[in-house]
Amino acid sequence: MNPLQRPADLVPETPGSLSVRALWREGRAVERRWILGGWLATIAACVVLGVLAVRRAWSGVPVDLGGTTVFLTFYPPIPLCLWWALSLGWRWGAVPAWLATFVLAVDAGLAPGWAAVFACANPLGLGVLALGYRAVGAPRGLRSLRAWLFFVPLCFVAAVFSSAGALIWNFSHDLPADRQLPIWQGWWLGAFLQSVLLGGPLMALTWPRLSRWILRRPALFTPPPSGRRAMGLGLLFAIVLAVLGYGLISLGLGSLQLRAALGSHDWPRLEEASRAMLSTAWVFFWVFTLIVLFVAQFGYQALSRWLRSTEALVTQLAKLNAELEQRSRTDGLTGLANRMATEEGLRGLLRTARRYRTPSALLMLDIDRFKSVNDRYGHAAGDAVIRALAQVLKASSRDVDLPGRFGGEEFVVGLAHTDLPGARRFAERLRERIARAPVVIDAKDLKVGDEPTISYTVSIGVTVLRADDAGIEDSLRRADAAMYRAKQGGRNRVEVAEEATDPSVPGQPGKP
Ligand code: GH3
Ligand code: MG
Ligand code: MG
Repeated sequence: MNPLQRPADLVPETPGSLSVRALWREGRAVERRWILGGWLATIAACVVLGVLAVRRAWSGVPVDLGGTTVFLTFYPPIPLCLWWALSLGWRWGAVPAWLATFVLAVDAGLAPGWAAVFACANPLGLGVLALGYRAVGAPRGLRSLRAWLFFVPLCFVAAVFSSAGALIWNFSHDLPADRQLPIWQGWWLGAFLQSVLLGGPLMALTWPRLSRWILRRPALFTPPPSGRRAMGLGLLFAIVLAVLGYGLISLGLGSLQLRAALGSHDWPRLEEASRAMLSTAWVFFWVFTLIVLFVAQFGYQALSRWLRSTEALVTQLAKLNAELEQRSRTDGLTGLANRMATEEGLRGLLRTARRYRTPSALLMLDIDRFKSVNDRYGHAAGDAVIRALAQVLKASSRDVDLPGRFGGEEFVVGLAHTDLPGARRFAERLRERIARAPVVIDAKDLKVGDEPTISYTVSIGVTVLRADDAGIEDSLRRADAAMYRAKQGGRNRVEVAEEATDPSVPGQPGKP
């Protein structure tokens, strides 16, 4: 682990949710006790505080904000349920939120059918919040400006969604026009402020420990659903809907109140309605500002996330391509350059020889009587001999040389900056080294009763790459002919090609 990374940063940004089943089956007793106990306690607290909020009329309380009167509702279940929904998953917050609202509504005399619908408002808001975090994967720790810049506007959108409940409340209670705006505004503004001012700090405070625990217990969490793009679109849709709904409702309710007051010719009432309309319009402006900023920031984050993932894909693709290219040039059995790559290398050597008049040489090797190795020891042992020869070639070559497997048990070595006598000496050393070192065969590659070592020899043809060679095919043909002579001459020999010397290379007097 990078020591500079705090554990909180390592929790996957896209939240999964705590699975009740996994908690029950795989959770430790202490985890079950704390989580389920804490959750039941939260439900009880939410129900009691929800009923209190209605009985003590903490709803639509006018608050003077620097000359503008706004209405606030204090509803303590909001920050508690927000914490559960953001930390462990939407359901953990939605259930207490629904139960608390349902109980308070029934307690206030709402018919159970209406109460059940009414109670969905807060879970709806929490759903938007959870959707936002799933779509964007912003840090939930709320310990950075970036985290707050995402959290605050999202709380607003969630609050507007949850304020749908106020409309149901107004409708089911058949409230007069001038009571409707306070209830609705109190609801969303109250939900928004409590989410930000209480829920936010609660998250910031608890997240470091909580995230460490989440990191340790991945088995308890269901992975987040894929399809981020769809969720992002869903979130954008929710935001647009929230802003439009918000504008329509706030201005509509304000107008309703103003119109009722105008009809009444009651001056104080008219004044109050005008003030309300004025503050509604201003709040509307600020809300719009907030949302525009949010959408811009959300778009920026989505774009940069998209760019990052594209970049990662491109890097991965480039890596795979390089790997593929490497593989296409490598012989699978020996790891040496394959025929294509060897020929390419030889072409390069020939070009250098032509341009700079420096000699380069070419060796062609073939294992002697290899068929009998295969026949006697089996194909696996034959392969082991081929691999061992490749090792010897690698170990004997310099960096600039080009050992390659040409096919079957035939090998080629290109020797850069090497003249004919040098190449011959190299070939002799190689031949001796091979003849002296039998291959030790793995027991699994041996037939029963065989000796564990195989002695073998090679025949080598040597030539130089001549500047007047039309292509490496010419050079290869000479090396092959020389090797053939080595075979004819009794094998385990080195033969130099006739007309090997290059008249154009200094120090190598050519034979015409
Ligand atoms: P010579 O001394 O004349 O070269 O005799 P030789 O038996 O080696 O004859 P030749 O070079 O024609 O034989 C090549 C044999 O190598 C034929 C084939 O069975 C074997 N061979 C080719 N490729 C492989 C391989 O990848 N693994 C194994 N085990 N055998 C191979
Ligand atoms: Mg052969
Ligand atoms: Mg052979």
